[in-house]
Amino acid sequence: EKDFEARFNIPHITDVFDDAVSIPSTFCLRMRTPVSEEFAGGYPSDEEWHGYINKNDRVLLKVIRYSSPTSAGAECIDPDCTWVEQWVHRAGPREKIYFRPEEVKAAIVTCGGLCPGLNDVIRQIVITLEIYGVKKIVGIPFGYRGFSAKELNEMPLSRKVVQNIHLSGGSLLGVSRGGPSISEIVDSMEERGINMLFVLGGNGTHAGANAIHNECRMRRMKVAVVGVPKTIDNDILLMDKTFGFDTAVEEAQRAINSAYIEAHSAYHGVGIVKLMGRSSGFIAMHASLASGQIDICLIPEVPFNLHGPHGVLRHLKYLIETKGSAVVCVAEGAGQNFLEKTNARDASGNVVFGDIGVHIQQEIKKSFKAISVPVDVKYIDPTYMIRACRANASDGILCTVLGQNAVHGAFAGYSGITVGICNTHYVYLPIPEVISYPRLVDPNSRMWHRCLTSTGQPDFI
Ligand code: ATP
Ligand code: MG
Repeated sequence: EKDFEARFNIPHITDVFDDAVSIPSTFCLRMRTPVSEEFAGGYPSDEEWHGYINKNDRVLLKVIRYSSPTSAGAECIDPDCTWVEQWVHRAGPREKIYFRPEEVKAAIVTCGGLCPGLNDVIRQIVITLEIYGVKKIVGIPFGYRGFSAKELNEMPLSRKVVQNIHLSGGSLLGVSRGGPSISEIVDSMEERGINMLFVLGGNGTHAGANAIHNECRMRRMKVAVVGVPKTIDNDILLMDKTFGFDTAVEEAQRAINSAYIEAHSAYHGVGIVKLMGRSSGFIAMHASLASGQIDICLIPEVPFNLHGPHGVLRHLKYLIETKGSAVVCVAEGAGQNFLEKTNARDASGNVVFGDIGVHIQQEIKKSFKAISVPVDVKYIDPTYMIRACRANASDGILCTVLGQNAVHGAFAGYSGITVGICNTHYVYLPIPEVISYPRLVDPNSRMWHRCLTSTGQPDFI
């Protein structure tokens, strides 16, 4: 007897509105037509194959077979069981929908920092809404701030407006940090008659989206709030990856290659590249793995010493002596313990980090000067160049599917959810589960060890 219960419940409109009625979907699925009579028997008939996703369809989140119950540890609830299986809700169009398209006013908002693919997601949400038959689609300008700023008008959106926006990076709607309170946002939604809200943003934005969902429920507003996780750092729990990450890793190669060429072409050259990653070093790790040009990769999850017999500087001296040059890749959140705390915060309340790249550059110069060894250090921070890129092909596809599924989720009557990809399948997850803490690189994982094998760096502790 297998248990296909989903690991998480996702909030549905019928949880609070017993009287919520559904109608047949207005989203038309293309039917598969047999190519010839000969093959016709191999295809299911139209009645058998309707292509809609059933609410009980599941995606396998993870499956592990442990060699013994002890190695399963806390994950295994049943002490005699060495199998762990977890299922989550499959995303996609439903046969019955809970909103009449002609009664929908949908709004899209993008918050936080820029990330490749934002325009791709906006575009796909608009296109899919139109296919459902929605006529009123608007963009909220400059993040959550656009809900309160009187001088900012909502932007009418249609296929015509969004047709080519994916060809450039950034966000058509603009982004911001900080902004009005949740009750002000919901007041504004009520005033504007918005009953579907698509929120593109990171952890902070999703915390906001969940709060908006809860506030709407409290006011008994029939509203669907659906998030699309936008985090270039790939730091969202449970998902294979988030959009923009692939593009960021690819784009980081250019900066790393430039740093390598600079270092290689100078006498005793050291190149430093700082990449995004406030608490998660996925970009730095993957870019190091992809480039093969990094000698030292430093990430927030793995503590390191700069000075001392096992410090980064001693290893750099060894590299200069043996190879003549070296390239360091550092994530922005790494080594913050070496920098003076300023207590500065941005408009959203995030701690403003000191520049670890500049600090390492200065320490290298000082320590080599002290031993009278010449060194030529070049520091590259490609952050804003990477964030502003347009999405690459693989992110473009990811954004397309996420955008479509966000709309399917809203029409299916879900709210307080976000869309993602798990084990290569697309899923809906409740917002609180994916943002309870940032996803981190496991220093004991094979991937981090592969990275160390590739760079050849020792432990700096
Ligand atoms: P990024 O990955 O670029 O940092 P983010 O979504 O985390 O994206 P933030 O600047 O932290 O970016 O937050 C974006 C928006 O969400 C801001 O307008 C902020 O006011 C709001 N916000 C942040 N945290 C919360 C929270 N805990 N509750 C409600 N709203 C929040
Ligand atoms: Mg954030």
